[in-house]
Amino acid sequence: MRAAAGRVNAAAVRNVIAGATGVRPIYTVWRRAMATHHTSRLLIIGSGPAGFSAAIYGARAGLKPIVVQGLQPGGQLTITTDVENYPGFRDVIQGPWLMEEMQAQAEHVGTRVMWDTIVSVDLSGSPFRAIGDSGDIYEGEALVIATGAQAKWLGVPGEHELGGKGVSACATCDGFFYRGKKVVVIGGGNTAVEEALYLTNHSSDVTLIHRRDSLRSEKILQQRLFAHPNITVMWNKKVEKFLGDPQAGGLTGLLLRDTISGEAYDILTEGAFVAIGHAPATELFKDQLELDEGGYIVVEPGTPKTAIPGVFACGDVMDQVYRQAVTAAGTGCMAALDAERWIAEREFKQHQALAAE
Ligand SMILES: Cc1cc2nc3c(=O)[nH]c(=O)nc-3n(C[C@H](O)[C@H](O)[C@H](O)COP(=O)(O)OP(=O)(O)OC[C@H]3O[C@@H](n4cnc5c(N)ncnc54)[C@H](O)[C@@H]3O)c2cc1C
Repeated sequence: MRAAAGRVNAAAVRNVIAGATGVRPIYTVWRRAMATHHTSRLLIIGSGPAGFSAAIYGARAGLKPIVVQGLQPGGQLTITTDVENYPGFRDVIQGPWLMEEMQAQAEHVGTRVMWDTIVSVDLSGSPFRAIGDSGDIYEGEALVIATGAQAKWLGVPGEHELGGKGVSACATCDGFFYRGKKVVVIGGGNTAVEEALYLTNHSSDVTLIHRRDSLRSEKILQQRLFAHPNITVMWNKKVEKFLGDPQAGGLTGLLLRDTISGEAYDILTEGAFVAIGHAPATELFKDQLELDEGGYIVVEPGTPKTAIPGVFACGDVMDQVYRQAVTAAGTGCMAALDAERWIAEREFKQHQALAAE
């Protein structure tokens, strides 16, 4: 009954109630009767940097966009603290504040922001249709998908509490804050090896912790890792706990357990990067759009265009390489510009066809 993120899943609760009481038909009829139909020229699913950038450009092009926010209004930046690499700000800014500003800007130019989560989509043709968890129906002549990708976490004690206070899931984002300090990376795939190599730009003491005795990453990356003088690998170790006080200095170390001997011990570190992969939020689209082996939406290279004309994807949901707020915002802008052009071309063709009749 609990969703992966630890939230109570409303649909699961309703299923249990329906099973026990048989009230589902009444609830469904009531919900359909109460459902509101929202139409727009541009429907955007997701309220991170990609979704709000698409909204700002879409609104300024006169498309009166609707943004459906989802379970994480503002997206991933709302779970971090310091952001130092988003252009335009001399001083460190806070992730949640940046996202409030993006939303305010999008609303200021005419975006409608809806508190709802899309539970199904119909991409068979324009207008594209999405149904919210509320029962509301959303339609857009063009659709922008900006549902992001969530970093996977270990789920051990201290990880959540020390998030942004020594525990991170993004070396490109936060590595700079640990200049000259000992840092650790947890994982054994490409992401972990890339994060460890990246962190050597800031630290001369990087430890990769892996629970097995070999890495899953590409051989070429492993060669670079093993050849690097500032990286040590700890094999057969799993993290049992992140140690430290979120109110006083943050992370101080990790409690590890040897997966072979069972021995437990602490190591000291002020920065730990969990690098066990990302999960793109594409479950909704898997039967209607092409996804790659990692579950990311496949787009025409260098564009946000999916294989369905009028459906665009932007931000982390289609980008497993860069995964930054500024790149998400950039592709969000591209998606809105392409959506506007697609709508205009379609209208032109419809007018021509009418004139020819
Ligand atoms: C801890 C952490 C720190 C980071 N720090 C930085 C940093 O300092 N600088 C930087 O540039 N980047 C940073 N990043 C990366 C950055 O946050 C992401 O690259 C960026 O947020 C991606 O934007 P996005 O809009 O593609 O997706 P997201 O920000 O992931 O937003 C996805 C949106 O889609 C919505 N959604 C998902 N499913 C549905 C649905 N079914 N219906 C409706 N809505 C839905 C969610 O609610 C959310 O609003 C950090 C990431 C993390 C995890």
